[in-house]
Parts: sequence; C-alpha cells; structure tokens
Amino acid sequence: MTAKKTTSVPRPNRALPSKGVEWLHNPIFNKGTAFTEAERDALNLRGLLPPQVQTMDDQVKRVMTNYRNKTSDIERYIQLVGLQDRNETLFYRIVMDNLEEMMPIIYTPTVGKACQEFGHIFRRSRGMYVSMKDKGNIQKVLENWPTRDVKVIVVTDGERILGLGDLGVSGMGIPIGKLSLYTACAGINPTQCLPITIDMGTNNETFLKDPLYIGLREKRISGEAFDAVMEEFITAVKKVFPGVLLQFEDFGNGNAFRLLENYRNQLCTFNDDIQGTGSVALAGVLSALRLTGGKMSDHRVLMSGAGEAGMGIADNICAVLMEEGLSLAEARKRIWFVDSKGLIVKGRTDLVAHKKHYAHDHAPCADLLSAVKAIKPTMLVGVSGQPRTFTEEIVKFVGSYNARPVIFALSNPTSKAECTAEEAYTWTEGRAVFASGSPFAPVTYNGKTHVPGQGNNSYIFPGVGLGVVATGATRVTDAMFVTAAKALAALLREEELAEGRIYPSLKRIHEVSLKIAVAVAEEAYQSKLATQPRPADLPAYIASQMFKPEYPNYA
Ligand code: NAD
Repeated sequence: MTAKKTTSVPRPNRALPSKGVEWLHNPIFNKGTAFTEAERDALNLRGLLPPQVQTMDDQVKRVMTNYRNKTSDIERYIQLVGLQDRNETLFYRIVMDNLEEMMPIIYTPTVGKACQEFGHIFRRSRGMYVSMKDKGNIQKVLENWPTRDVKVIVVTDGERILGLGDLGVSGMGIPIGKLSLYTACAGINPTQCLPITIDMGTNNETFLKDPLYIGLREKRISGEAFDAVMEEFITAVKKVFPGVLLQFEDFGNGNAFRLLENYRNQLCTFNDDIQGTGSVALAGVLSALRLTGGKMSDHRVLMSGAGEAGMGIADNICAVLMEEGLSLAEARKRIWFVDSKGLIVKGRTDLVAHKKHYAHDHAPCADLLSAVKAIKPTMLVGVSGQPRTFTEEIVKFVGSYNARPVIFALSNPTSKAECTAEEAYTWTEGRAVFASGSPFAPVTYNGKTHVPGQGNNSYIFPGVGLGVVATGATRVTDAMFVTAAKALAALLREEELAEGRIYPSLKRIHEVSLKIAVAVAEEAYQSKLATQPRPADLPAYIASQMFKPEYPNYA
C-alpha cells in the first residue's frame, strides 16, 4: 500500500520503503511502537509490532531509564549509537533534549574511547568507507550512497584522532559524532549528512595486529600516493555531490594544512581542527577580555603546541589584532609558540612553513617552563596533546603577575588536558579564566563556584554549516569564522560571565547556532558567495530550515 502525504513535518529525502518490515528496519523512517493504528494498517505493519501504540514521550522515558541505568560511558555511547541505527528521529529527540548530558558521550571525551575500541564495539556500518584500494573507482564508490541530496560531508583519514594519534578507520567515530552534532546543535537534516572515512592505512601497531581491526592491515601511504587518492576523492565529491560542504577532520598536520590550501578555493570546504578551533578559541579569548580588561593588543599569548589547533587560534587572534590597528607582522609578534623542541624562535632551522610566521627574535628556550618565564604570557593556551604540561610551577608563575591569568588547557580528550580545572583555579587562588577542550565539572574554591568554559568546537561548526547550507555559499572563508567567534562571544550574558563562564551554557546551543548561522549568512551575502536569493526575513528563514525531531504521519 502506498503511504499518503498528510503531514506538515518534512519528509526524509529517500524513497519510501515498499514492505512493512522495511519501515521498521530503516532508521530514517522507523517510529517503532509509535506507528499509529492508521499507519499500521496503511503500511502493512500489523503483527510486526506489539499491540500497544506508544507516544514518542513514552519511548523517551524507556530510553532514558535504560541510559541512566548504564554503568559506564562507553555503554551509554553504544546504546545511543544503537538507537541512532534503529530510529534516528527518536535519537535526535533524546540528544537534542539532553545535549549537555549527552555531548560528552556522542563527542569528546567518550567518542575518543569509542574510536579506540571501534572494531570491538562495531555493530552496523554508518556513512561511507573509501579506501586507497578504491583508487580509480572512487566516484563509483560514492555513487553507491542512496541519495545525491547531501549537504554536509565530514571526512577523516583517522591519522590524528583528537589527541589520541593514528586510529586508522577506527577514527570513523569522529565524522559520525560531528555530523550528529551538526543536527543536534544546528538542525542540519540528518538525511543530508554523510560521514566518510578514507582508509589510507594505519601506522598504529596495536591495530595492525588486532584481528578485530576493521580497516586495511597496511601501513599508511604518504606523499604523492596520498595526494593522488585525495585528488580523486575531491574530484568525485564535486561530481557526485556538487555544492556540498566538505569538512576536513582529524587529518595529521603533515597533510591538513596542505589539503586546506589546495582545496579551499576549489570547493566549499574547511578544516575544523584549524579554522573551527581558531574560531571557538577566539570567542573564548574575546570573552576573557571582558574579565581581564584591556584590548587584545594589551596581551601576550603563549601557545603550547604549534599544530593545526595552535595555528588556527593564532591566525584568528591576529585577525582581531589587525582590527585593532596592528599590521599582520605586529600582530604575529604578540603570539609565541612552544613546540616539542621548545620556544619557536628565528634561529631555529627545523621549522616547517606554518611555524615560521610565528618565529620571533629571541634566545632559545628548551621547554615550556623556561619559555613561560621568558615571555611572561598573559594568556597561556595548551594545544599540544601533552597531558599535565601546565604544571603547578608554570600556572603559579603565570598567576604571579596577572590579576586574571587566562589559562586554556584545550587538549582532548580529558586525559590529555594540560591541567585540570581544579588545578587552574586552586593554583591561582580562584583567579584563572579557564577553558578546556573536554568538559570539566564546576569547581568550588574558597566558597565560590567557578564554571569552567569548554572551548568546544560544536559551538561554532554547526552554526557555520547551517549558514553556509542555507545560503548555498560556494566557499567557506576565514572571515566567516571570525564573524562566528564574535557572534558567539556576544551571546555570553553578564550572569554567565559572573560564574566564570566564557562560553554560553550548552543549553542555549540552538539559539547560539542560529545566531551564528545568521551572522555567517550575512557574511556570505556581503562577500557575494551566496547562491540562494536573500530571504526578506533571514533569521526566520534559517530557523525554518532547522530539522525538528518529530515523527511524520505516514498514514
Ligand atoms: P597537531 O598534531 O596538529 O599539533 C600538536 C602540536 O603539539 C605539534 O606542533 C607538536 O609539535 C606539539 N607538541 C608535541 N609535544 C609537545 C610538547 N611536549 N610541548 C609543546 N608542544 C608539543 O594537533 P592539533 O590538531 O593542533 O591538536 C592538538 C590538541 O588540541 C589535541 O589534543 C586536540 O584534541 C586539541 N584540540 C582541541 C580543540 C578544542 O578544544 N576545541 C580543538 C582542536 C584540537
């Protein structure tokens, strides 16, 4: 029997199932026990479901009871992914209603553990796997995806998953998780999202020996061989999904900068580890200025870690310094870097191109402690993936000459953070303006409760994505990320700031994503990158594009 169209809830962009049982086994259409009596008749579902028709609220109750009864976060992750694979609408209803609680499960830190165990907890394939063995056929592979109506792709090769290193195809948990956040935070329709992992091999010896590893048991390819696969992949993406927004995710830094430079003017693409991080950290810095006082140009920033995140943050801070009237060269001089070999200075001969921009005239410093003592930063930012490197001595020193020392320990997951929230507040007698990459619980010090900021990229990329998709923008620009950072910082309320927060509560994420999307859309119209006509009421139009986790009526 054919389903009639009688609903105002937008329908998925897929052909409707033809047999009763297919409605239940397709997560996009499945409503489980919530299929109504009329739908059970119309769709040949009689007998395939228990007789009691339940509401979505009944289903939510059941899932949440089971969820809260689980004894570990990885079990909660497995439960949620299982739900996503059975019933996407219910999954998003639950995640969207409980985002603060579930973000650390579907994203960092639990997703990191899920990636490490990916082959062992694997249940059902989601998204697409392209491998270096598909070379010559990548377009055909992509054509196997059931729809061409894809608006956002997140792609990884798994070489640098969070701060956990090379996880090969087990890194797939990241594109899946990020796309879940595109929907949960900004309402990008889940049926228009496509996670992709490219198997370029792995150098992870544990995985190479693990019989349950689900990728190719081969060493990583690099150089020309790597670039040739990427070139074919990008060409195929442009053909099969023209106009799609392609997000590069967790590529190793030996490739990430080059890929971004090579492709950012060829299609609508960005790298979240570089640009998204740069944007969310800039928002944190702008909010921190409200607590420290002064302008950006009054500050000295020391970054520990000169990779994708560090460079993205530094470049965005430079954009603000230039708005304050500094030249690019003067702006860069306000920012210092330490990498695994010590302070980045002019005399060093081992610097790759992106580090040279920030190599200043200075005597060498072998490690972070001596660099901190020499530079005396007002803002100390950790993006090195090296845990506990903000030692008591370092944090106390930075606290000794700053009334409000800005300490961002951004490395993920929690186990990699440069220091904990409690350490930052305790070692500075509660004066630190603190943010981390993974969440930390509020800390009470001397009777005052401090709410640590989480410099979570999901404040930024979902809203940027929504703005880009809604306007049909043909490129993603650095200006869009600076705009997004300013929009985010502007949303922080005085009462939130008083609690020590430098980001709005995640409870406000839908409002935040919409505001960012509108700001990015304005930027797209101004820079003439939009391909969609400007609607009379831009915020209302963008809001109307946001997915709502409601069941359509198929009867
Ligand atoms: P990356 O591999 O590109 O860069 C890491 C950098 O750290 C390299 O420059 C390396 O030389 C440097 N490094 C290594 N050992 C060091 C040491 N002992 N001291 C100082 N520097 C050292 O990685 P990335 O993409 O820049 O990410 C780095 C970390 O930042 C990861 O843990 C990641 O999870 C985190 N991160 C956080 C956010 C966020 O909070 N929103 C976003 C992106 C990345």
